Amino acid sequence: MTKTYYFFGEWRKKDIDFLNSLGLDRDVELGADSFSIREGEIYSKIIDHFSKKKPLFGKVRPEGYICRPSTTLFSKQDLDESPYFWLRGAAVHITGFSPYDAKYEDMFDFECSECRTARKQLQHYRFSEPKLGKKNAAFVLHYQDDLFFKKDFYEKVLHPYGVGCQDYIVAATGKVSESYVQLELPIAKSPLHIEGTAYDTEEHCGTCGRKQYSIQILDFFPPFKESFDFHLCKTQEMFGGSQRVMISRELTERLLEEKVLKYVDYQLVPIASI
Ligand SMILES: [Zn+2]
Repeated sequence: MTKTYYFFGEWRKKDIDFLNSLGLDRDVELGADSFSIREGEIYSKIIDHFSKKKPLFGKVRPEGYICRPSTTLFSKQDLDESPYFWLRGAAVHITGFSPYDAKYEDMFDFECSECRTARKQLQHYRFSEPKLGKKNAAFVLHYQDDLFFKKDFYEKVLHPYGVGCQDYIVAATGKVSESYVQLELPIAKSPLHIEGTAYDTEEHCGTCGRKQYSIQILDFFPPFKESFDFHLCKTQEMFGGSQRVMISRELTERLLEEKVLKYVDYQLVPIASI
């Protein structure tokens, strides 16, 4: 696992002289600019440099200076050792759709209108069928936790694993889609071991007291507190308005075999071992 960090500042001449002497991937420009780097020697040099004691004249840090974790990269070994994953990939992201659109208002029930947690789907989705390429089997909507698969693929690959599905309606015809189904993803039987981890960044909602967790990938994904059998499920916890879809190793292997998923860390995020 390698963490990467994001830097931003209104860099001055002396800042870019220093930064550009370090051999970053590209030159940092004068004025407002940002860059990301992996943790390591250069990262440590930058942190040390901008953490020096205040000099007699001028400021150590430029205006607007920000340094924060941006993402985390995982090795093949990290993936190999993970008993299950947060499923990020396998689906094409369909844009231009949001469950918060007025036309979908009666589709959902939100437990808390403030932070809009615990989104319950009250009726079938209704929208135009997207066109997926031959190599793609699935798509997701605005949020990553509503997954749709090609109907034939679902029958062949997912149904044997006990994954449920429901219809959706093609908006133009008002009829059930013949091409795709929406997966029914049960809620995980256990909460995540997430308190105090890198993902535990947000405050409690002032209205319902529930927490949202970081949408970024800041570390290994937290494991479930208690183990239980599943192939696909949604976390109990919310991450910036959506739940995370978790997938078993067995079903992961099956999707890899079908080549609708890649064994890479931007599609599969490994779980921390306790
Ligand atoms: Zn709330």
